[in-house]
Amino acid sequence: MQTSDDSIYAIGEIALYNQMIFGLVAPGYDMAGVAVDQILGKTESLMPAEIDMSTKLKLIGVDVASFGEPFMPASKGHSVIFENKTQHLYKRINVSLDGKSLLGGILVGDASDYNMLHQVYLNGMAIPEDAAQLILPATEGGAFGSALDLPDTAQICSCENVSKGQICGAIKDGSCEDLAGVISSTKASTSCGGCKPMVTDLVNETLKSLGKTVKNVICEHFEYSRQELYGIIKIKKLTSFNEVLDTCGTGHGCETCKPLVSSIFASLYNFTPNKEDVTQDTNDKFLANIQRNGTYSVVPRIAGGEITPEGLIVLGQIGSKYNLYTKITGGARIDFFGAELNDLPAIWKELIDAGFESGHAYGKSLRTVKSCVGSTWCRYGLDESISFAIELENRYKGLRSPHKLKGGVSGCIRECAEARGKDFGVIAVEGGWNLYVGGNGGATPRHAELLAEKIDNETVLKYLDRYLMYYIQTAAPLMRTAAWLDKLEGGIEQLKKIVIDDSLNIASELEKEMQFLIDAYECEWKQAIENENTKKRFNHFVNSDDRDDNLVFVPMRDQKCQNTGKIKNNSYFKQIYLWKLYYQNTKQ
Ligand code: SF4
Repeated sequence: MQTSDDSIYAIGEIALYNQMIFGLVAPGYDMAGVAVDQILGKTESLMPAEIDMSTKLKLIGVDVASFGEPFMPASKGHSVIFENKTQHLYKRINVSLDGKSLLGGILVGDASDYNMLHQVYLNGMAIPEDAAQLILPATEGGAFGSALDLPDTAQICSCENVSKGQICGAIKDGSCEDLAGVISSTKASTSCGGCKPMVTDLVNETLKSLGKTVKNVICEHFEYSRQELYGIIKIKKLTSFNEVLDTCGTGHGCETCKPLVSSIFASLYNFTPNKEDVTQDTNDKFLANIQRNGTYSVVPRIAGGEITPEGLIVLGQIGSKYNLYTKITGGARIDFFGAELNDLPAIWKELIDAGFESGHAYGKSLRTVKSCVGSTWCRYGLDESISFAIELENRYKGLRSPHKLKGGVSGCIRECAEARGKDFGVIAVEGGWNLYVGGNGGATPRHAELLAEKIDNETVLKYLDRYLMYYIQTAAPLMRTAAWLDKLEGGIEQLKKIVIDDSLNIASELEKEMQFLIDAYECEWKQAIENENTKKRFNHFVNSDDRDDNLVFVPMRDQKCQNTGKIKNNSYFKQIYLWKLYYQNTKQ
């Protein structure tokens, strides 16, 4: 839009309009329209009276969204609030005084309902008599019904101004056959991408309503499932994202397909995230899990949970030197929290010099193989669970997969290592080891199922190599072994045929591929600190060595903690004061 200088036009985040900077794409598009009109001489063109500030974002790893009137005085309507502190969820919707229409809302922690809520709000659609149904955890059938219930005029993509009618019409009139075609033809979801889940739903529902098959594709850039793309990359020996895109994709790629292709490269060639960091997600790019306040965690590998007193002392010294919050994790290793991005290379250099290596806590890869003390110390132990857990963890460390992998080894059926709650679990019994697969904890706990009984160490390794490689090659994106096994036709019996009886005649190939990955393993943090170019990635600012001076920590049980606003008994400023006092005292 024309600025105070007639010859300068500004839109988006550099345009101050009505004393506000609008950091969202929709007002940016409105401004662009006004700017074009003004340049063409239409001086009457103005911004809309009400600027749509609805948006869905990820803020420091947390899904957040707001739409309509997120804050509303009680005189205008009622607020319905759902909060689950154990799962860090907060949802609030504001409804009209007569309870018949949705006026706005806020979602924190889970913004998956944003698209439908936004459409209900925009189109003035009727809401359930009990409005809480709109934000309560999903029930069968859901409160919203199908995306096809929206009116044809519903604006699905506000960036490109594409309606539901245009999206569904492109399929119905035969001009498009799939999601990629609809996106290419209508431009829906090509800007901020926030509406993509709803565009996908509409395309799939329309195809189903016409009796057509819905193909499970990765995204609009690749018309293939993950398994198909894995096969193409392997057969054609592709080694860069652009090569893959040129060979079998379209467009420039997105946040879905880029990390997925990187993960396939890692599973095929053991490429670490250092090779092509621009295609990685944040955690893989910085080789660390980003935390709520923008700091990072540091997790060195402690295979099988075994560590010497000297190793513990080194960890203590490093934690103390860099002032890191320290905790023992459920995977029986030590997690440092609160590390600043600029400090990561120095911290890891000290860890690596002391003999530690990456624990891959940030990757969709092997995390830990937990063990009990087994026959080494326990009077019930039937075999050496610690030694076997260490062997397994070192064998599969760095192994990238569709989702994280965890293992466990117990020395007897008392199961102190909780091995049956893992993707693979090994339990000592009279006559050998029982091997279990496809378990996990998490939101949907599932006990692992018995794959083989009373087998020796060598056979455990052989079956595990086959099972893990088969899972890596055939699972959908972000699918853990438990869900994969549930969906595998024939379930555990079919898996036994493939892994034990070699019914597909692929066992030796799977073993060979796994052995290649094991032999090609390199610690990616060692790679990172030895390469000056890679080290530059770990700067908070691209053009300065300055640190992030917005970080605020508070004291908590003799350590520092990020300020979540939930620390009891201290006001915010008192917390900062106490923390500074504590920090100064401990540094003297
Ligand atoms: S699982 Fe068995 S061997 Fe291992 S610590 Fe427990 S009782 Fe001992």
